[in-house]
Amino acid sequence: MKSLRSCTSLVFTAFFIPRQGSYASSDYSPTFGSNGFANWGAGTWPPSSVGAPLVPQPTDPETLALLTQLDPVRIQSTIQTLVNFGTRHTASDTTSRTRGIGAARNWLLSEITELAKPSNGLMNVSMPCYLQEAQPSSGMPIAADVCNVQVEIKGAVDSNRTYVYTGHYDSRRLNNSNNVDDAPGADDNASAVAIALEMVRILAPVVAKNPPAASIIIAAVAGEEQGLYGSNFLAQTLKNASVNVQGNFNDDIVGSGSNAPFDPQNQHTIRIFGAGTDYLTLPAEIITEIITTGYQDDTPSRHLGRYVQEVNAGAANTTDMDVALIYKPDRFHRGGDHESFLKAGFPGIRFTEPQEDFYHQHQDPRTQDGVIYGDEIDYVDFNYTARVGRVNLLSLWSIANAPATPSNFTYDVSIGFLASSLTTPADYLENIIKLYWNTEPLDPLLDYYEIWTHMLNVGTQNTIRLPISKDNAVFGLRAVGKNGKKSPATYALAVESEYFGS
Ligand SMILES: [Zn+2]
Repeated sequence: MKSLRSCTSLVFTAFFIPRQGSYASSDYSPTFGSNGFANWGAGTWPPSSVGAPLVPQPTDPETLALLTQLDPVRIQSTIQTLVNFGTRHTASDTTSRTRGIGAARNWLLSEITELAKPSNGLMNVSMPCYLQEAQPSSGMPIAADVCNVQVEIKGAVDSNRTYVYTGHYDSRRLNNSNNVDDAPGADDNASAVAIALEMVRILAPVVAKNPPAASIIIAAVAGEEQGLYGSNFLAQTLKNASVNVQGNFNDDIVGSGSNAPFDPQNQHTIRIFGAGTDYLTLPAEIITEIITTGYQDDTPSRHLGRYVQEVNAGAANTTDMDVALIYKPDRFHRGGDHESFLKAGFPGIRFTEPQEDFYHQHQDPRTQDGVIYGDEIDYVDFNYTARVGRVNLLSLWSIANAPATPSNFTYDVSIGFLASSLTTPADYLENIIKLYWNTEPLDPLLDYYEIWTHMLNVGTQNTIRLPISKDNAVFGLRAVGKNGKKSPATYALAVESEYFGS
């Protein structure tokens, strides 16, 4: 019973960052947030005068203005169009112009091509496909083309550094192999595809004048329900091309808000799921070290989630949303396209509505015992989806214009430890930490590096000695751009100096 109770408490582990200011465009007042930057790294102990307490980074007015362009009417229109294709099962019809996944992807390609035109060619629209063989056990009764409809925006400063938004456009019924009957898939997952189209529409004229510093890919992927096929195809293609994917933002089921019987808090909250150590394709010795040094909550995926939470907190008057970080890779028995990126060794997080409505997911549309089932558009709140889209657009555009996350961040574990010889330097016997990181080549976007979680400007040097014991705090490092935008933080790996054990 004891272990069951502790599992239960974990389920409800969520972290909130309080918003600055109050809600401007709704009557909802946050009743939570008292945890502040609720993680052990920002506790009141150990006492420290190093740096300043973390406050959310602000967003420039130009970016905030983009967020207000997310249009619930357009989102409704996209979802309705996708629902009208009847089924978007990955192995459904590809010959009809009005029904099946073939018609759906052809419409997406032509629609996105049209939306991208104001970019003056700086948005590259494509539909790469591969032939997926039949997998009857996972819902593929026949072989079928799996096609992703995607937009690539080349970064102007570091084109290899790439951030990827994904939302799957395929849909399913209770019987995952049924590739014929209606599977409307409005919430799961036309809602995320509608956000993708809105981001392409809003960013097209922006990138024509000011392309982002790093590259962005916005993709509607297929084959999620049968085995994450499309996202795996995309992630592996990027990995094989040695693309430096620094993050995958995967929206899946982002449509239920006020149309479901949820309290106001849920209407203004988006969950982000981030994986811990076990999902990283890191060498075994590094995983062992992360576990040993307590950094399992500081994986690149979780720092990506924290990044979204912090940027949103600084712009919450515009997004009208809170971000709840769930320290799990996904919900129980569930999965999504971010896993394809994790398996490729890239950070990835999943955005999902706060309280799912299981009567309207994966269900065959029907009325049974007086209860209506089915993932129909009636159960999507377009204003909620637009608010989620604001968080996505804010995060994607901000991160692609921030400097890169610093690399090779380490600390010397021999400092603040027992003397090992008569010649152990005196300052190795202090309760301090000495941190190191890579500065070569210096990111042209960089203004200075900042220690996290307490904010400390450490200039453009590659090392710092701080009067905090390495044993008592979690240390991160992030890069601050000349435009004020900050990268996600990275954790410090322990290294042993030449004095250790000598
Ligand atoms: Zn889904």
